[in-house]
Amino acid sequence: MTTAAASTTGLPIDIKPGKLFIADKFVDARSGKTFDTINPATEEVLTSVAEADKADVDLAVAAARKAVDEGPWATMDARERGRLLYKLAALVDANRDEIATLETLDNGKPIFETSNVDVPQVIDVLEYYAGWADKIHGDTVPASGNFFTYTRREPHGVCGQIIPWNFPLLMAAWKLGPALACGNAVVLKPAEQTPLTAIRLAELVREAGFPTGVVNILPGYGPTAGSAIVNHPHVDKVAFTGSTEVGRQIQRESAGTLKSVSLELGGKSPNIVFADADLDAAVQGAMAGIFFNQGEVCCAGSRLFVEESIHDEFVSALADHAKQVRVGDPLDADTRMGAQVSEEQFTKILGYIDAGKKSGAKIATGGERALDKGYFVQPTVFEGVKDDMTIAREEIFGPVVAALPFKDLEEAVARGNDTNYGLAAAVWTNDIKKAHRVAHALKAGTVWVNTYNSFDAAVPFGGYKESGIGRELGKHALDLYTQTKAVWVALD
Ligand code: ADP
Repeated sequence: MTTAAASTTGLPIDIKPGKLFIADKFVDARSGKTFDTINPATEEVLTSVAEADKADVDLAVAAARKAVDEGPWATMDARERGRLLYKLAALVDANRDEIATLETLDNGKPIFETSNVDVPQVIDVLEYYAGWADKIHGDTVPASGNFFTYTRREPHGVCGQIIPWNFPLLMAAWKLGPALACGNAVVLKPAEQTPLTAIRLAELVREAGFPTGVVNILPGYGPTAGSAIVNHPHVDKVAFTGSTEVGRQIQRESAGTLKSVSLELGGKSPNIVFADADLDAAVQGAMAGIFFNQGEVCCAGSRLFVEESIHDEFVSALADHAKQVRVGDPLDADTRMGAQVSEEQFTKILGYIDAGKKSGAKIATGGERALDKGYFVQPTVFEGVKDDMTIAREEIFGPVVAALPFKDLEEAVARGNDTNYGLAAAVWTNDIKKAHRVAHALKAGTVWVNTYNSFDAAVPFGGYKESGIGRELGKHALDLYTQTKAVWVALD
């Protein structure tokens, strides 16, 4: 690991205080309350942001309700909705450098990633769903009797969307793209740790010319603003990405008004390396699987199963690579791992590392904080891990991987599946039959073969078991944001 400290002064872009975006206007919270958002690389305040709570949620939901019930949005041609989404994508593109910098400052992830992954994928997702807007339709159905029977795919109406801090703008795009393509109006709450790019997106929504109330953005906290969205009787659907614990609570709370709920939650994904794999590629894959985005990835390959015969050699190669990762100032173009998002996450990750050491696992590399200031953690590889240790069972959400030797395919699959999570998994082998057998046997919403963390707007993503309900991205997300109406017309 090499390090370079983050600069504490002289931000490269202007950052204004953040407001709520309700009914096409930027406003203060009704309560007048604000909260600070910080730069996790320097621990310094970036700016203050209006803090929404229930009163603001009521206003935003009323604006969204009006947009779907009365406004021009309700009767707009589907193709025109698509054009607005294309325009939004083009505006993000036109401001890509500034947006990437803003995301890096607010989240702590390297500019290398925000420029090359987050912002390009935001544009991709918005364009992908822009293309869907006029291709969402029902069927004619050959019902018995003398009827003309057809289905319509109608929007739910008002969608409450609650997103996390690990990919702040990208998660907003995953949520807004399909919801708007389908004709819904949206009340979106970014995470309190990273509200700035969602607020910037609101400016672009306005510039693109979406009708009043179609998109409302409410920075604020989960138990206040988030919970008010989930419990609101005029919110028809809730989409959430975040921890399994909060997902459970959201599902419980939304039962009160029987909302449609989709959840994308945590993971403890198995990354399985067989001895016959291309080992250089597998080491790179294991690196990407756990250190991309500082390990703050719900599908991180945090349980690394390595076939016994190559285990020691593989772990030692992985540790050597991990030592080379350049950790430091996220604004430096050469940095490959930035800061964890917050002091809370930083402390939590160091706590897990400590628990790993205490339980008898051995550090192959890392295991400490990096730098004196900022929430940086060393890329950490544990070996000698047992399946029942906390570091092999709980989601750490940091750059910490547990290496676990295995004997054969059956054992790898059984142990890989021995978790309440089921978000993603990967298998590395040059044997095509083995690859598909394992891919079919793993209980996960995504299985990567000889790759890790591959994503595309067209490919569905979501969890088995306690990793979630529903699939985002691809045409699958259209199912989340529409409901089907059957229309029967008697012909005699
Ligand atoms: P993490 O623990 O990784 O910060 P959370 O699941 O707590 O993730 O947060 C993800 C999102 O859910 C954030 O926008 C957060 O504000 C929101 N949230 C947290 N608690 C609640 C809640 N009780 N109701 C609704 N939203 C919540």
